[in-house]
Amino acid sequence: VGVGASRVRDMFDQGKKSAPCIIFIDEIDAVGRHRGAGLGGGNDEREQTLNQLLVEMDGFDAAEGVILIAATNRPDVLDPALLRPGRFDRQVVVPNPDIQGRQKILNVHIRRLPLSPDVDVKVIARGTPGFSGADLANLVNEAALLAARKNKRLVTMREFEDAKDKVLMGAERRSMVMTQKEKELTAYHEAGHALVGIFTPGNDPLHKVTIIPRGRALGVTMNLPERDRYSESKMEMKAKIAMIFGGRVAEEIIFGKDNITSGASNDILQATNKARAMVVEWGMSDRLGPLRYSENEEEVFLGRSVTQSKTMSDETAKLIDEEIRLLIDNAEKHARKVLKKNIKHLHSLANALLEFETLSGSEVNDLIKGKKIKINDDVDINSKKTSIPRSNQSKVKEKKIGLNPEPVIGS
Ligand code: ZN
Repeated sequence: VGVGASRVRDMFDQGKKSAPCIIFIDEIDAVGRHRGAGLGGGNDEREQTLNQLLVEMDGFDAAEGVILIAATNRPDVLDPALLRPGRFDRQVVVPNPDIQGRQKILNVHIRRLPLSPDVDVKVIARGTPGFSGADLANLVNEAALLAARKNKRLVTMREFEDAKDKVLMGAERRSMVMTQKEKELTAYHEAGHALVGIFTPGNDPLHKVTIIPRGRALGVTMNLPERDRYSESKMEMKAKIAMIFGGRVAEEIIFGKDNITSGASNDILQATNKARAMVVEWGMSDRLGPLRYSENEEEVFLGRSVTQSKTMSDETAKLIDEEIRLLIDNAEKHARKVLKKNIKHLHSLANALLEFETLSGSEVNDLIKGKKIKINDDVDINSKKTSIPRSNQSKVKEKKIGLNPEPVIGS
């Protein structure tokens, strides 16, 4: 206790000595968290550090020539005292980069890579909406690793494409042994997601569907928006919930009510969360109107986090449940209607997945149009021959990637 505070004092002394200068504090929430918000004891150290920081900032004067900057991902948990005028009183929000930003960031990271002429940074930037700078750095790194594993001299567009899938959907887990029955179930499940997604207006275009286990999912169906988006309409949300139910409904139609699996648990969670938010947060229910309803609000009282029950009548709670239920039921009904109407496509897509394991959005669209899908195997530009068969790629140990951006629909 007291070490943090003396370091803060020391830091400001040094700053004043070497003025003009900038003091930058990263992850300010580590010390600047709302006082008294922690559970249990052991916060003395942090509080003293924060108090010292506040004292030092107050002792500052405009002529001192020291500029103080701090960064955080959690501005909401900061102690209000930190944000008062004269302290950190200006806030600059740095969002994820847009398409032009991504292009420039990618250009920085690929500077030292030997690139094949087919690599188009613009295309990569367009295909990575929602990626942060760190994600893009990771993407370039993964692409380089993939190329090295295949003994390629140059990094081609193919590696960037594979790296993107790895960053977006998690690393492939080809070593996982699945029975034929599980594979079939997964194939129909993912085909169900994909088809409901395609035949419901309001969903983003299908990017890829695969029955190779990735991350914690047995298979993944993924949509990717065509451009950066900053909001989502009610119709798009309903379309998304319908697509989420496509998986479970497909299982049910093909294998019967008694053979549905636990694989849809994450789908159900996602759909329920979305429907609840539509009703209680985004004012999208006609019966409840544009009000924010929240059952519990976390409050801090005498250093303890207390869950306070808001006064919500039983009737309101019941109404909320009914409205969520209605959204879910409609989505499920819609998914069932789409899949029954397109049962032929459901079978052909599931069979194609069992055969090829992974299909791109355009391949699925070809399949629906009745065209035969051609799988172009990876041709290595260095050895002229097909390098690694599609089914043995990336058996190498994979690094776990924590990122899981929004559009992923897990198994
Ligand atoms: Zn699913």
